[in-house]
Amino acid sequence: MVEVKVNSESCDGCGTCVDTCPVEVFEIKDDKSVPVKPDECLVCRACEVQCPNGSIEIIE
Ligand code: SF4
Ligand code: SF4
Repeated sequence: MVEVKVNSESCDGCGTCVDTCPVEVFEIKDDKSVPVKPDECLVCRACEVQCPNGSIEIIE
């Protein structure tokens, strides 16, 4: 079971995670990233690496 956490304090809604994730885990809602399909996560960690604000944490 993978947990996809977004820190909504530091997320600025840039959309990089939406563009980066190969399986469309994220959507932008009200200028914040929301992990809408965390069960799809492949634990590739691209989103963690690419987020400019370090707002994403993938927990296995
Ligand atoms: S890449 Fe980071 S800052 Fe940008 S929308 Fe995603 S979580 Fe927010
Ligand atoms: S770790 Fe990979 S598959 Fe999982 S949410 Fe991030 S980019 Fe998507």
